[in-house]
Amino acid sequence: MVKRYNSFGPYLKKKFGTIVYKVNVDAGFTCPNRDGTLGVTGCIYCNNSSFRPSECDPDIAVAKQIKDGIYYLSRRYKAEKFLVYFQPYTNTYASLPELEKAYREALAGPSVVGLAIGTRPDCIDKDKIELLQSLARDHFILIEYGLQSIYDKSLNYILRGHDYQTFLDAVALTSDKGIHIGAHIIAGLPTETREETLAMADELSGLSIGFLKIHQLQVVKDTPLAAVYLREPFPTFSYKEYLDFLVDFIERLAPGIVLQRFFATSPDSILIAPIWGKSRQEIILDIEKRFTERNAFQGSKCACYRH
Ligand code: SF4
Repeated sequence: MVKRYNSFGPYLKKKFGTIVYKVNVDAGFTCPNRDGTLGVTGCIYCNNSSFRPSECDPDIAVAKQIKDGIYYLSRRYKAEKFLVYFQPYTNTYASLPELEKAYREALAGPSVVGLAIGTRPDCIDKDKIELLQSLARDHFILIEYGLQSIYDKSLNYILRGHDYQTFLDAVALTSDKGIHIGAHIIAGLPTETREETLAMADELSGLSIGFLKIHQLQVVKDTPLAAVYLREPFPTFSYKEYLDFLVDFIERLAPGIVLQRFFATSPDSILIAPIWGKSRQEIILDIEKRFTERNAFQGSKCACYRH
């Protein structure tokens, strides 16, 4: 089959010689945009239950969460290698000893090849990077910075609590240390035109990031965004619009960036908009179909080829 874009599963399989399964853990960290340091309501769209896997429980020790996750995946899929994913909230938002304990506990799990650490770009510093750099000597270490948008007008709207420059500073601090760098963005914020959101592909292609998560804006219950939307609904991506947007975006993205995520699927019980009524599998198949129909390839319209 023709490979039209880089995705994470095949990337890991090639690198480690087998399918690498993700084990989600919740180390019980919080977030400065929720604990009062920057704010208490969080980013305007944030409902952590929409991205906290049900198997995660911060009251259970990291080592036990991993052991249970690995046991399940080994039995269910005969999985042999694992990447521990620190996902909920801000996973570099703790003291250095706490972080080191959690990361080392995770890496000590049987057949764990590395870590993926989701965090905010304003929750990293030289000491934390040095810790990750030391772990990266023997393991695959990926830090995923939540960016959401390169436009400060959007970051202000979503009450993110940091600006784009903060992200650039974090990327600069992390670069050339053997640590893999990822970014996470949201498409379809009401503050941006379609072209502005597409232009993020050009911008990110020029940075030293190797991984990207992108998904459509979802309005979910119990968030400030839901209140805004219910008061004054704004357009969100229809299913067909998003498929075409995604193809346009990935065509403009540097061919070497590995895509970890293409869309979001919040549970039906909390999703307000957009409602697509599609399963994960259907969405993946339709993305592939749209790429084929348009004979599109990642990077074919990348700004990196335009000068
Ligand atoms: S999206 Fe992330 S950074 Fe924003 S409030 Fe939620 S946990 Fe914190």
